[in-house]
Amino acid sequence: MVPCFNEEAVLPSSAQTLDAILTQLMTEQQVTADSKILFVDDGSHDKTWDLIRQLQTTSDHFTGLQFSRNFGQEAALMAGLQTAAPYSDLTITIDADLQDNPFLIPNMVQQAADGFDVVYGVRNDRSSDTWFKRTTAERFYWLMNKLGVHLIPNHADFRLLSHRALSALLEYHENDPFLRGIVPQLGFASTKLYYKRRPRLAGQSKYSLKKMLKLALDGIFSFSIAPIRAVLWAGAAICVGAIAMFIWIVSQHLRGAVVTGWSSIMTSLWFLGGCQLIAISIIGEYVGRTFTQTKRRPRFIIQTDTYSHAFAAATTPAAQSLDHTLSD
Ligand code: UDP
Ligand code: MG
Repeated sequence: MVPCFNEEAVLPSSAQTLDAILTQLMTEQQVTADSKILFVDDGSHDKTWDLIRQLQTTSDHFTGLQFSRNFGQEAALMAGLQTAAPYSDLTITIDADLQDNPFLIPNMVQQAADGFDVVYGVRNDRSSDTWFKRTTAERFYWLMNKLGVHLIPNHADFRLLSHRALSALLEYHENDPFLRGIVPQLGFASTKLYYKRRPRLAGQSKYSLKKMLKLALDGIFSFSIAPIRAVLWAGAAICVGAIAMFIWIVSQHLRGAVVTGWSSIMTSLWFLGGCQLIAISIIGEYVGRTFTQTKRRPRFIIQTDTYSHAFAAATTPAAQSLDHTLSD
């Protein structure tokens, strides 16, 4: 399944490559003949959905979900996985630009056949990424590790999930799912396949700085309460400092030197004010997340779903004949 946001530039060639791989897997009987490629159009503003519709007329391998607006890649992945879950033994997610080597897919399927429930695609060479992307990603993995969240470094959203791993994943009802953090928590037998990340075939990266930041914050705040702990320790350290200060002030008072400096008061006032604001904002971040979670708003809204339709039509003869009558 492929999340797509404004991908008109790469979609036709990506679809062709994926279809060739799927067809080969079918002829080798590695996957069933009714396997599908599911595109999730994440509220694109360009011709992405038209292209998906067109593709569907060329082959019944192609299906699509269309969101009512842009909800973000993680939501698109969740929607695709949730829709595919009732009909599939295994699911593979890959970005539309095929920067992650799609020719590894048969290998992934083989690993699944060998009994692995989760197969991670891991990039061992990111030289095609920009310096900025590489360093921010590196820093991010480092920070997450320090915070006690163990991610698979250099693994993004190119992965295979077995049916039971997917069912377990769908038990996570998080509003801002951070799949790279959740999947390693599922357990099950897993393995990694390495590849070199390729440059984008066409079009621009759909990850603006803002979206990258949101993903990073989702990763930190939905997986770790370390920031709250850090605030606790900082508060404790400041209290110890304050006690020392109090002793010093009392001793100064006893010596008669009661006029203490204006500057030290002002400095501590500003410093403590700043610390408090940071602390409150960190706590606010968690409260805010609890707030959005308790509202239980949908993570995404699907406008059109041709994937389930394809299976419903195939499994219920009544529906099929109804279709025929309508088109006759
Ligand atoms: N994507 C999406 N919704 C968004 C942003 C991105 O579905 O709001 C999809 C995009 O179409 C692509 C994948 O997420 O299939 C990864 O995006 P991109 O390749 O632009 O990110 P990068 O490789 O630069 O990190
Ligand atoms: Mg990309």
